Amino acid sequence: MDKICIKRLEVFARHGALPEENVLGQKFLISATLYCSTRKAGLSDELGDSVNYAEVSRIIKESTEGHMFKLIERLAEYLAGKVLLAYPQLEKVDIEVEKPWAPVLLPLETVSVKITRAWNRVYLSIGSNLGEKEENLCQAIRLLEEDTETLVVRQSSFIETEPVGYTEQDKFLNAALEIQTLRSPEQLLDLIGTIEQTLKRERLVHWGPRTIDLDILLFNDEIIQSDRLTIPHIEMANRMFVLEPLCEIAPYAVHPVLHKTVLEMRNVFQSLHTNLRK
Ligand code: ATP
Ligand code: CA
Ligand code: CA
Repeated sequence: MDKICIKRLEVFARHGALPEENVLGQKFLISATLYCSTRKAGLSDELGDSVNYAEVSRIIKESTEGHMFKLIERLAEYLAGKVLLAYPQLEKVDIEVEKPWAPVLLPLETVSVKITRAWNRVYLSIGSNLGEKEENLCQAIRLLEEDTETLVVRQSSFIETEPVGYTEQDKFLNAALEIQTLRSPEQLLDLIGTIEQTLKRERLVHWGPRTIDLDILLFNDEIIQSDRLTIPHIEMANRMFVLEPLCEIAPYAVHPVLHKTVLEMRNVFQSLHTNLRK
């Protein structure tokens, strides 16, 4: 992966755990490595095809001057978020914050924190079978887009499906979404919960009618098993209403536990059910 590097940008600011640091201020040196393809700009020689390092430097300077954090860990985290959000085409960013005048009272050259932060690539399943189904899906997508840390990158068509599990209910409208987000899996689950509440989802019957249901299918290639989350979604390989729309936008996304692509999972499911009907 190509890199654009900004080395030791000097910014005077007031971060620090001691009150004196917040009053007097001190020098911070900030380095950033931006991971992105420079191929297009390399061929066109156009600034618009690249990430403008002057602009990134300005964002870093203004963000560093505009806040007062106790820890350089916090400053690094904040800067990484700012840069990634300003440039969704970046895959990841390294940020190093050096504090050469840190009040350590020992003869050291500098102290620093260096972090790497990346966009998370996530696939969601979304469904509705109550009220204005299409409007519910669109509204949920809008609410995802409104989250400052999340972008909806791709969406499948809306597919009408028969209810599974509790079958005494109306048909569903289902879709799959690809998003990129700076949220952690737990934070994303919180966002989904808020969106479901905003769209007045009521939990009456498990697997029963709902205005909206959002599930996390894949989160990068992570495998998570906690009280609140199972990722990949535990039922995804057994549900055509998940695999069909997901196959439209991500046929080659790989299930990190089953080691199968979405396309393979869909084909396996299809042939299993065709055989069952024979
Ligand atoms: P299913 O999960 O079988 O599709 P459901 O979507 O109807 O059923 P909900 O009532 O929406 O079930 O969710 C129940 C709980 O599932 C949530 O509170 C959440 O904590 C948990 N959960 C576990 N893994 C996931 C995941 N990958 N995505 C969304 N929720 C999950
Ligand atoms: Ca669900
Ligand atoms: Ca759910």
